[in-house]
Formats: sequence, structure tokens, C-alpha cells
Amino acid sequence: MKYTSTRNGSIVTSFEDAICSGYAPDGGLFVPECLPPITTTHLQNWSALTYPELSQTILRLFIAPDEVPEHALQNICTSAFEGFENPAHAVPVIQVGSIFVAELFHGPTFCFKDLGMRTVVNLLSYFSQKRQRSITLLVSTTGDTGPAAVRAVSDIGNPLLTILVHYPEGQISEFQRKQLTTVDSSCVRVATFQGGGDDMDRPIKNLLSQQSYTDSNTLLTGVNSYNIGRPLMQMVHYVWTYLRVLEELGKIPGDPDVKLDIVLPTGAMGNLAGGYMAKKMGLPLGKLNAGVNANDITHRVVQTGEFYKSETMLKTLSDAINIQVPYNFERLLFYLTNGQHDLVRAWMTTMDATNRLNLDREWLTVLQRDFNSARLSDEEMCTTIRSTQEQFGYLVDPHTAIAIGAAQKLGCGLDRVTTVHPTVILATASPCKFEESVTAAITGAGWAAYLQNGFPAAARGITELPERSPIVYLAKAGGTLSSWQAEWEERARAIVADLGAANGYRCVTQSK
Ligand SMILES: *Cc1c(COP(=O)(O)O)cnc(C)c1O
Repeated sequence: MKYTSTRNGSIVTSFEDAICSGYAPDGGLFVPECLPPITTTHLQNWSALTYPELSQTILRLFIAPDEVPEHALQNICTSAFEGFENPAHAVPVIQVGSIFVAELFHGPTFCFKDLGMRTVVNLLSYFSQKRQRSITLLVSTTGDTGPAAVRAVSDIGNPLLTILVHYPEGQISEFQRKQLTTVDSSCVRVATFQGGGDDMDRPIKNLLSQQSYTDSNTLLTGVNSYNIGRPLMQMVHYVWTYLRVLEELGKIPGDPDVKLDIVLPTGAMGNLAGGYMAKKMGLPLGKLNAGVNANDITHRVVQTGEFYKSETMLKTLSDAINIQVPYNFERLLFYLTNGQHDLVRAWMTTMDATNRLNLDREWLTVLQRDFNSARLSDEEMCTTIRSTQEQFGYLVDPHTAIAIGAAQKLGCGLDRVTTVHPTVILATASPCKFEESVTAAITGAGWAAYLQNGFPAAARGITELPERSPIVYLAKAGGTLSSWQAEWEERARAIVADLGAANGYRCVTQSK
């Protein structure tokens, strides 16, 4: 399978180049050249596979054996799920009321990011060893991406694979901060910036675009969900969940009468992009419903066709989905138009220049055929955490609560009974990561009860480890966002060089 840019079909490259580059050279996002079909026969054959086996089988559709041979892919998919509660059954699908909940958070960092990230990082480690060249990951996090990436890198312990991770100061939970600052590995550097969730995206994109895989001895790679590896791997949990729900309903996979409606908390749309790709391949999914918080760009575009960056990032109790511009909307547009590169390029060129793009009626109708959305305030989110716990004895994290609340608003909530379009909530994180927000919903006494029985044993250790101070990128008074971003970019460049030196190689990145 070859890869191409959403904005230009004549850019054609290998899987290795696509995953190692992050963005496509024209600023677009990589997509596979085609989406292989998922047939009823596939689904039936896949229903007995373990989670790592299913991952390997689905990835194989997208990675040619001459790039990653079978035994290597098997090792990658096996080791990616080490550290999960139950690797063979990495994603439990349970019933709560009349809906299904796919618990995507049983990995080592208690968040769904582990599912995509660990495989991607393992693949990058494989390529670094195959080529004997170093790779440094540049990551910006709204809370969960960073810990998953840092943990994956430090678990592998390959000196050729290092990471510099950035988080917005004061905008991630204490638990998430500790997941970053307690890691003691020469492969890891942690920095914090005084800005909003995606303010480091521009400096990182600049750093990545100033180098190529062939002209420097260290490769800089981004592993946020613009990297195609993430949505590819995130298809797996949709297929897995589909198979488990059909099993539960006593139906045969491929049954033409059953389609799953999915509701998920949405930030950068990486998870949504994985689901949409799986649907385009033939997985029987109904609507993909995005739940968002007050940072509601996704809701606005799905409801009105207007896609534009809001003035400011709003602080919320569900910070992991505080996003002003979701990168994967570009992939959604690509698949929405059945792969019209020129149209996507025209839209995204407008977006890059003006921070705004408007879909006309016709395209909005197409968008609304596959997607719907709902927005929840912090107060509504807290009410949902409380009512889900009171009615079902089930404590959810703030992001999962956004999905449950969205399902209720969209008429496919916990009390809807249907076997034709069963509703599945994607539960993206464990409540253990979000003491501050969960306490806002169920009070300190509620949190104390959860600590007593419910808080995962594996999460306890982290709170006791010593923290190391992160590197701080300041937003100096009197400056503008772009002046700070220019300065942060230089800081990051210096840290990358230092990270290389600490691991025994020289890293050259060119300044503009
Ligand atoms: C990252 C994240 C999301 C959003 O996923 P996207 O792929 O960015 O849309 C939702 N919930 C949690 C807990 C997350 O960490």
C-alpha cells in the first residue's frame, strides 16, 4: 500500500515515509492510496482474533510485507499491548442501561491514546533500527497524548528513539502532569508552554517541515493524530467493538440489519477519522456522533458547515478535547468527497490563509449523512457524571460523560432500546486521571469513595513518584502569539539538539 497527500494525488510514498514524516510535504495529511474493503467474510473470520491479532490483520491491509515483514509486525502488535490489563482482550465492551460502552482506557496510561500511540511508536522504533538512524518525536498534548507517547518511548528504551513533549501550563490534570514529570529516561524531555492547547502546533509543524527523512542524521517526527499511523490503528477498536456487540446481540457479523451508532468525545477528530475510514471500508456503522465541550468547532461545522477557529480557547472540565482547529477534519473532507484532492486543497488553502472555510449546502448534506454532533457545557457534563453514577453505579471520566450526554441530547441515550441501531459510547479515559473535574461533579466525598474502591491499583504508584521540573516556555508580556511561537520554536530546536547529544548522536536541524 502506498500513501498520498489529501491535497495532492501525485505525491506518492511508502508507509515508512508517511509514518516517519507526520505531515505530507505539501502541508496536507497522508492517507492510504485506497481503502481496502472489509467484507462479511472478513468480519466473520476476524471474530475469534485477540486484540493484538486483529491489529496485526488490519494493519497488514495498509503495510506492505516488504516494508514490515510478518514476524516483525507480529512483534510490534504484541509488544504494543504489553502493559494493558488484559492484552488479548484489550478493549472490554460492556452494557450500561440499554447502550454499549467500549472501554478504550485499559492501557498503561489509562486513556484510549495508548491504543494508537503504542503501535505507532513501536513501528517508528522498528524503522529507526532498520535504518540505524535516530528519530526524535515532537509532541504537543492537551493531556493524554503526551503521557501515552512518553510511556511508549520509555517502555521501548531504544536510544535511537527519543521524545520532546509539550503541554499547556495549568491546562492538564495533576495526574496527567505527573505522568509526564515523573518519567526518568534519557530518551524523554518535557516542556510546558504558556498558551492554549494547540498553540504549539505551528512551531512543531515548522520544525517538521524544515527537514526531510533523507537530509539529516536525525529525523523529527510528529505523532499527534495528523500522523496517519494513529487513525489507522484507531480503526481497530471500531472493528473490535462491532464484533463484540454483534456477539452480545447473538447476531452474525455482517448481519445487514444491524448498524452501530457511535458516540464519542471529539477533539482533534483522530478517533472520528479512524471510525469514518472503517465505515468507508464497509464496517456496518450508522452515524458517527461527536460530543464536544464549549470549544465547539466540530459541532459548529457539523451543524452549519462553517469551519473556523474561535477567538480564544476556553478552559473546561474536559480539557483533553479543548481544541480550536481539529487537524483530522482534513481527512474527513477527503473521504467525504471520495478522495477529491483538488477540492480538499482548495478548502485547506482557504483555511490556512483565513482560518475559515465554509461548506456549501450540498457538502453539508453529505457531511450530515454520516455525522451528527452535540455540545455540552461543564454543568451538563457534571450532571451526566452524577446521573450515570446514580442510575447505573457507573463512574465515567469527564470526556466519556460528554459522549453520554451527547447521546442523550441526540436521542440515542442510556434508556433507548433498539437492536437495529445499537448505540455505542467510546469511553476514552479512566476517571482516575481527572480528580479535579470528577470532584467538581461528585464532590470530594464521592472522589474519596472512588479512591477506596474503583481507583485502578496500577494508577496509585504514579502519584507517589518524585516530579522533575519541566522546561518552561514563557509567553512574555507585550508579545503576540506568533512572537511567542517563534521563540518556542527556537527553544524546541535547542532541546532536540541536546537530546541527541545526551543519546550519543548529533542532531542537525536548520533554522529558517
Ligand atoms: C484525545 C482525547 C479525546 C479526543 O480524541 P481525538 O482523536 O483528538 O478527537 C477524547 N477523550 C480523551 C480522554 C482524550 O484524551
